Amino acid sequence: MINIVLFGKPGAGKGTQAEFLKEKYNLTHISTGDVFRYNLKNNTALGQEAKSYMDKGDLVPDELTIKMLQDEVEKHPGTAGFLFDGFPRTTAQADALDAFLTSKGWQVDATIALEADDEILVARLLERGKTSGRPDDQDENLIRNRYQEYNDKTAPLMDYYKSQGKFYAVNGIGEISDITARINAVIDQL
Ligand code: ADP
Repeated sequence: MINIVLFGKPGAGKGTQAEFLKEKYNLTHISTGDVFRYNLKNNTALGQEAKSYMDKGDLVPDELTIKMLQDEVEKHPGTAGFLFDGFPRTTAQADALDAFLTSKGWQVDATIALEADDEILVARLLERGKTSGRPDDQDENLIRNRYQEYNDKTAPLMDYYKSQGKFYAVNGIGEISDITARINAVIDQL
């Protein structure tokens, strides 16, 4: 069992890298953003609750997000491990994840952060917004708000995982395959 948290600002490339990592290490990929968008599209009760927050580029409340994450994990008994993408994003979520994994005899093995400069990331997101259909990628104000949320609520998690000796920073600028190789190098030495 190996559990990896992919960490990084919006646009850092978590989703792109997750596609390669889940294949190579046979991991179950859980993107909380994707799960929320799926629920939004299908107009489920969860989607209706999350919508007003996502429309503003705000984080969805912890209680709702943690419950959803746990439900996703429970759908995959017997997996070789999880790749958490976009979760945790607050200290409360990190605490909940630790407690939840511990209750199963598991743990977070590594948090891998993709690092890139804000201005590069904003440009990437606006570019992605031209084709992704994601409204939160088409409005610079929403993008800036997501960075504000990241700085206020998610950035403190770096120290949370550093203090556990589980934090690994990877340069997120360059060719996609080079970045994949940098992440592989971290996982292979765990
Ligand atoms: P990005 O990393 O590009 O901002 P995501 O696809 O990961 O986008 O998330 C999109 C939106 O879904 C976020 O802006 C937020 O509203 C919601 N969301 C995703 N993950 C979480 C989380 N762990 N906690 C709270 N809200 C979340």
